[in-house]
Amino acid sequence: MFLGDYHIHTPRCGDARGSYSDYVEEALRKGLSEIGFSGHCPQYFCPPEERKRESAIPEEELALYIQEVESLREKYRPSIVIRLGLEVDFVPGKEEELQSIVDFYSWDYLLLSIHYLDRWPFDDPRYLSGYKERDINEIYKSYYQTLITGMKTGFFDAVAHFDLPKKFGFRPTKAIKEEAEALQVCREQDLVVELNTAGRRKPVGEFYPAPSILTQAQELGLKVCLGSDAHQPEEVGKDFKEALALLRYLGFDHIVGWEKRMAILYPIP
Ligand SMILES: [Zn+2]
Ligand SMILES: [Zn+2]
Repeated sequence: MFLGDYHIHTPRCGDARGSYSDYVEEALRKGLSEIGFSGHCPQYFCPPEERKRESAIPEEELALYIQEVESLREKYRPSIVIRLGLEVDFVPGKEEELQSIVDFYSWDYLLLSIHYLDRWPFDDPRYLSGYKERDINEIYKSYYQTLITGMKTGFFDAVAHFDLPKKFGFRPTKAIKEEAEALQVCREQDLVVELNTAGRRKPVGEFYPAPSILTQAQELGLKVCLGSDAHQPEEVGKDFKEALALLRYLGFDHIVGWEKRMAILYPIP
């Protein structure tokens, strides 16, 4: 039986705590068959002096991250499959710099994330005031436009936390047409939608994406994967039972895992 958590941070990201083994041990306790480490990719989009360890793996430690996960993979090979990926911030106009990270290693998978809109880190609670300074519908519109640009680069395997701007509970006041368009582009680009359980632990109190988006994804025949977005060991596989029940309820039959950028479909347990 396959059950994989493909969104796990590591001590190499300055914002995660615990050792690599703590994350693996927790996965074993929760009965997962696979996990994927997806550290925050180096901040290729900032000038070197502005890169912050607190939110990403420093570029000079990327090789170390790879070595660490590879040796972990060997150590735990008999009991659990360990995949190696990255959670990649997409910033338009920096595709060339990003290409070098994509080519740096034969990653198992790459998650597409948008955490910045014109340099505003909209999911960082320290910059919440940004929601007051902007029109909420414009925030969503520009978020999905950026997401669509990222999807079309062909660099990625899955879209992480699809509707992230809802994190603090700020919702659009009308339908955002770019949201539906983003789902269409997912289909065109054969991108997987991540069901990210971390939203449940945030002020919005709901998985990413919202059930209405998952319903449309199912109707479009999109594939889904599971991620806890764990930044501490206890969060590995968090709320997966409920996530699987939701997927079954919405009519999904399979969840996805990856090996060397090849998506593998497994029946939902
Ligand atoms: Zn993220
Ligand atoms: Zn993450």
